[in-house]
Amino acid sequence: MSKDILNFINGEYVKNASGRTYEKRNPVDDSLVGLVHEAGKPEVDAAVAAARAALRGPWGRLSVAERCAMLDGLVAEINHRFDDFLQAEIADTGKPAHLASHVDIPRGAANFQVFTDTIKNASTESFEMRTPDGKTARSYGVRVPRGVIAIICPWNLPLLLMTWKAGPALACGNTVVVKPSEATPSTATLLGEVMNKVGVPKGVYNVVNGFGVDSAGAFLTAHPHVNGITFTGETKTGAAIMKAGADGIRPVSLELGGKNAALVFADCDFDNAVATVTRSCFENAGQVCLGTERVYVQRPIFDKFVQALKGQAEAMKPGRPFDKATKIGPLVSKVHQKKVLGMYQKAKDEGATIVTGGGIPDMPADLKDGCWVQPTIWTGLPETATVVTEEIFGPCCHIQPFDTEDEVLNMVNANRYGLATSIHTQDISRAMRLAAAIEVGLCWINSWFLRDLRTPFGGSKQSGIGREGGLHSLEFYTELRNVMVKY
Ligand code: NAD
Repeated sequence: MSKDILNFINGEYVKNASGRTYEKRNPVDDSLVGLVHEAGKPEVDAAVAAARAALRGPWGRLSVAERCAMLDGLVAEINHRFDDFLQAEIADTGKPAHLASHVDIPRGAANFQVFTDTIKNASTESFEMRTPDGKTARSYGVRVPRGVIAIICPWNLPLLLMTWKAGPALACGNTVVVKPSEATPSTATLLGEVMNKVGVPKGVYNVVNGFGVDSAGAFLTAHPHVNGITFTGETKTGAAIMKAGADGIRPVSLELGGKNAALVFADCDFDNAVATVTRSCFENAGQVCLGTERVYVQRPIFDKFVQALKGQAEAMKPGRPFDKATKIGPLVSKVHQKKVLGMYQKAKDEGATIVTGGGIPDMPADLKDGCWVQPTIWTGLPETATVVTEEIFGPCCHIQPFDTEDEVLNMVNANRYGLATSIHTQDISRAMRLAAAIEVGLCWINSWFLRDLRTPFGGSKQSGIGREGGLHSLEFYTELRNVMVKY
């Protein structure tokens, strides 16, 4: 049964003045999930005004400990309503239940806890000095919230990536206006109910639904009363958001696209490398910003590795999210399916050898209208080929052989993105040399997607600006004020 997906403004679910709605469809079978009420300028204005007022209301008067206790209550309440969040996330994304229940929802909740721990333990500096007239002065730092934070989200890990920003923003005492992806509005909207349940004051957390250009996203980022913009999404959207932030000199935090490489040396633990690269290429149907789309394998094990990865790709059974046999879900939308299939065609046109996949899997009649694509592996392309240089964001990779460390380093770094990499070798000296030389924000050795949330997260080059995670998040979500006392 279809539902209305509304905006959440000043503690209430509201429709919009324009009456504009769009259909959110389930990518598994194209069934209708709900009608999303697209926020226009009036709703964005109301959300920002509510967030601004809440800064000085009861929210602003809470002590850090009181604020954190309230946010910790959110974690408990999200877990209490785990199934509601799970169903909502799965209806929007079509991802397998085992993935959403182990990653999206628990991590989405844990993001609040991590940052309440961080802010409770964050210290500031203090210096004493003599003044010219022989007195003493002491200066000390005070962390203050930045103000109203606009949070613009993608669709691949909707709740998790949203709370990765809302968690630190709220822990630091800011208020937020969230613009979820148009493709995945449900969990951010549902979180409004949880905010009300645990007593978060009205206006602290707001959600405006809609699109980017000429819609809620652009209205929000251009709003003069937004004090900072934090964004996760494509690099070209990041550039537009940076321009919007320039008006009014508002800071931006940007987590952008990637074209991540995995380096597999002949001395690796072969089974671990195959299992890890399988996950990094195909998990969440390849719709993970940290995912691998370029695999470089040292020549002595090249053929064996290609065959092993082919076997794994062909074992990824597509199906319904709650079917236990399902290993891979659909892509998020028809629009994205068209983009990925266009890239599959491009690989063919540019002369790739298709090791496996390359099209749409044969699905049963009830799933035929879903956004399915086959896990796909190519070999034989030059490093300049489109699918080797451009982000695809689908379950696919190109595998390139290499001989030497220098050769692979040059190939890996010759890309405009610099988000993540993984290195598979038993030679720890080589791994550490490469980890320092590869131009990325995140490097895994003999692993992938293993995260300690206290550590910095973010991309180099065109993969982003700024680092979030642990204390690093405070740089964006707070301002450090200096106070000097003469006595
Ligand atoms: P996208 O850039 O198309 O959209 C992201 C969000 O921005 C959406 O909410 C969209 O409505 C909004 N938006 C679009 N144009 C806008 C504008 N002009 N002004 C304001 N808002 C606008 O990205 P997507 O397709 O939703 O997500 C996939 C991309 O996200 C991939 O490139 C992926 O690599 C990237 N990503 C990066 C990370 C990371 O941590 N670096 C994590 C996840 C996803």
